Amino acid sequence: MAKERKIKCDCGEILAEKKTKIDHIETEAMVCPKCNFTTLTKGQAERYAKLKQFHQIIDSRRKIIKIGNSMGLTFPDKLAEFGAKIGKEVKTEALGPKSFKVELIG
Ligand SMILES: [Zn+2]
Repeated sequence: MAKERKIKCDCGEILAEKKTKIDHIETEAMVCPKCNFTTLTKGQAERYAKLKQFHQIIDSRRKIIKIGNSMGLTFPDKLAEFGAKIGKEVKTEALGPKSFKVELIG
C-alpha cells in the first residue's frame, strides 16, 4: 500500500485510516481517534468517488424476469465499467432470509 503522509488533527491527535460511512457508503478515510474528525486523502477521495458511482449504478429496485424456465435479473450497461460483462462468472451467496449478494469474480 502507498505510504500516506501523517495528518494531524486540529485537536492534536494523529488521524488513523479507518473504515467509515460517508452518505451511507462504507469507505476508507482518515479519522481522528479523539474527536472523530474525518477527512479523505487524494487516493481515498478517488476510491470513494468511484465507489459512489458504483452505488449510483447498482443501488435500485429491479423486477425478476423470466428467462426460459429460469428467473433472471438485468443489470445496467454501465456496470461494464466495473468489470461486469456477458459470460463473466459471479458468485451468489445468501445473506439472510430475504437477501443475497452477487459478487463479480476476478
Ligand atoms: Zn481530533
